[in-house]
Amino acid sequence: MNKSWAIVNKLLPFSCVDGPGNRLVIFLQGCNFKCLNCHNPYTISRCKDCGDCVTTCPHQALTFINNKVIWQSSNCQQCDTCINTCNYQSTPMTYNYNIEDILLEIRKYLPFLNGITISGGEATLQLPFIEKLFQAIKQAEDLKHLTCFIDSNGYLAKTGWQKVERVMDGAMIDLKAWDTQVHKKLTGRDNDRVKQTIEYLAQIGKLHEVRFLVIPEHTDLQNSAKQLADFLIILNPQIKVRINAFHNHGVHGIAKTWPAATQQQIESFAAELKHYGLQNITLPSIYL
Ligand code: SF4
Ligand code: SF4
Repeated sequence: MNKSWAIVNKLLPFSCVDGPGNRLVIFLQGCNFKCLNCHNPYTISRCKDCGDCVTTCPHQALTFINNKVIWQSSNCQQCDTCINTCNYQSTPMTYNYNIEDILLEIRKYLPFLNGITISGGEATLQLPFIEKLFQAIKQAEDLKHLTCFIDSNGYLAKTGWQKVERVMDGAMIDLKAWDTQVHKKLTGRDNDRVKQTIEYLAQIGKLHEVRFLVIPEHTDLQNSAKQLADFLIILNPQIKVRINAFHNHGVHGIAKTWPAATQQQIESFAAELKHYGLQNITLPSIYL
């Protein structure tokens, strides 16, 4: 992978839910999990240039040239027909951004920003780009006050985190299930590396937040409050935990039939985590 550019699904100039303060968020294309409950499954794979979506586009925004699908954003009406056509959990609507492109975007919104967050898909699949971007931010006089965060599923190995830890200020890590078999059923991967990531980032003081998504009947988090609390408190009794509530709007496949998490379920899980000693818990601001 070229270190100087990234395949970007979306750039969000302002977010207050992707790390501390007001942040510009870059969502990278590609993921190494296949979560059944994914809200954006078209971010999972990179486009294979199969061409299937080209003829279905009702607005002539896609062309097939030299075995590559070219997306013309000026023609695009965001109708999502291409995404619904794709059999590979991908999209032709991505951008190739180099470091300078991103720095330019950051500078547009600079007076309003506290930092930037790289998310996904799974951000760390494009780690060399992240390392280079964070380095460039830390070296620029006008940008070095910005904090640099990664939002990750935690599957990156310790050696990967060691490549970015000098230039990364913090990371938000999702722990999707306590039991590794439950995690594998939900995501396609076990959770050993996720737990190792949480331990390692906590040790080096770069774990900003651990996130739990409560999916009634399909994840075991809400039945594992004691194990979760014991695991996290030993790392840091003040560790930040954010609980999110599953809802099935926008999900695809089997997860469409799954029930949403209720406010009562979330509050009772939070109360249990508190009972077992976790103190710094953020609840969802809305329930759907
Ligand atoms: S987005 Fe999907 S359907 Fe379209 S060219 Fe890429 S892989 Fe094929
Ligand atoms: S969303 Fe896809 S199908 Fe719709 S106009 Fe844009 S490129 Fe074409």
